[in-house]
Amino acid sequence: MKDYVKALMDTLGNKKVKITREYVETHSFDAMRKKYLPEVVIFPEKTEDVVKATKIASKHKVPVTPRGAGTGMTGGALPLKGGILISFSKMNKILKINVEDTTAIVQPGVVTYDFIKEVEKYGLFYPPDPASYRTSTIGGNVAENAGGPRCFKYGVTKNYILGLEAVMIDGTVIKTGGKTIKNVVGYNLTDLLIGSEGTLAIITEIITKLIPKPQKRGVVRLGFRSLGDAVKGVNKVITNGLFPSALEFMDKSAIEEVYRFLGLTPKENISAYLILEFDGNKKEIDSQIDVIKGLFNESELEEFLYATDPEEMDKIWQIRRNIAGAVSKSDLLKYNEDIAVPRGKLTEVVDYIYELGESYKVKTILFGHIGDGNIHTNFFLTEEQVPFVEELLGKLFRKVIEVGGVLSGEHGIGIAKKDFIDYQLSPKILQIHREIKNIFDPENLLNPGKVF
Ligand SMILES: Cc1cc2nc3c(=O)[nH]c(=O)nc-3n(C[C@H](O)[C@H](O)[C@H](O)COP(=O)(O)OP(=O)(O)OC[C@H]3O[C@@H](n4cnc5c(N)ncnc54)[C@H](O)[C@@H]3O)c2cc1C
Repeated sequence: MKDYVKALMDTLGNKKVKITREYVETHSFDAMRKKYLPEVVIFPEKTEDVVKATKIASKHKVPVTPRGAGTGMTGGALPLKGGILISFSKMNKILKINVEDTTAIVQPGVVTYDFIKEVEKYGLFYPPDPASYRTSTIGGNVAENAGGPRCFKYGVTKNYILGLEAVMIDGTVIKTGGKTIKNVVGYNLTDLLIGSEGTLAIITEIITKLIPKPQKRGVVRLGFRSLGDAVKGVNKVITNGLFPSALEFMDKSAIEEVYRFLGLTPKENISAYLILEFDGNKKEIDSQIDVIKGLFNESELEEFLYATDPEEMDKIWQIRRNIAGAVSKSDLLKYNEDIAVPRGKLTEVVDYIYELGESYKVKTILFGHIGDGNIHTNFFLTEEQVPFVEELLGKLFRKVIEVGGVLSGEHGIGIAKKDFIDYQLSPKILQIHREIKNIFDPENLLNPGKVF
């Protein structure tokens, strides 16, 4: 047994430190589906356990990788260089819900959906809802600054994080931000840690903002005859004064894949869906539904489905939320990008993506949070096509940057996109990144090999 593993065993005890195949194997991959084995997996139960582990890692110069639920799409939780993997599955307590302050304090391993359901009992609302929310953790969501359907109206994870407790690689505990809604004291280190993909510090406690839960919801699904009308429909919705909480898109292939996956048959003649959710009081919802009913004509729409019953709404959302699962069943190699572009460029970029897919003869499926300009672009390649993937993705990213978009709207960079990061970030900005990393982690032990 390596010295540092023995030190971890001696300090934390064998209940929290695991080296057997069962543990090491199950913590060696995430949703990117690459595999890197850690030497040891630890299961802290409190901040002090993380402090002890990082002190040992620093002393022995061993890499440390934090992990939530491993649903990350870009390899962020992969222990690229082995070493210690910290699983937060036992730091999964909601420590406090403060109704008066409309805040909560949670440990990083809390599953996002469980948290959303718990605060609802108090009439409160935590909006960030990545499609993975039934499994992903708040810690992972903070580290990736996750988005989700509702972020169109309510903003992404960072808009609900007031403060953090985090452990630096040398074992120092820092607290950023606080419990107040407003706070402009010093640099905003909370926002710096949010989205840092576990490369700057290990988050051990999270203070979230909550808002009052909207009284009612209504979900509309628009089945368009033409894909072009669906994409143009996004700006039609917004420029007509509608403000849905979610505005999602699925193309024909995405619809077909998910229906097949669920053992259902989709309606014919539908080339794309827009899924919109409205929330607020009944009057607010009804007035928006009246507008949307008059917005598209029969030649554009094959289907107009409106649901307010929770089960019916859930059925519509199940179709959207199951896409990632459905497309992951493919025998082909999937490259899943989550580019985001200014909404005015959606038609141009969507057309370009299909042309690109066609020119490389790769199956292409598009879906995503289109209200945010965020398009999940899935290319499916055969083994023979893999040598061209860099060229293909390079062309996609060049186009995205050319129209003022970004490489990733929510999945982060991890290892999947790090070779392309300089398409977006200038040498000076990358140098600032390196200097910041150096302040937090001068020996590059914390989640090394990620982002840049
Ligand atoms: C089916 C499916 C649907 C998805 N839908 C969405 C979506 O709608 N929106 C979206 O944004 N993402 C989506 N994702 C991606 C993924 O779920 C998110 O990135 C999520 O935030 C990852 O959370 P996790 O708990 O699984 O984190 P992990 O995958 O375990 O880790 C992600 C990153 O966070 C770091 N990390 C984890 N915990 C900590 C901690 N305590 N301290 C410091 N760093 C930490 C890890 O090192 C890693 O870099 C989806 C994924 C799947 C599989």
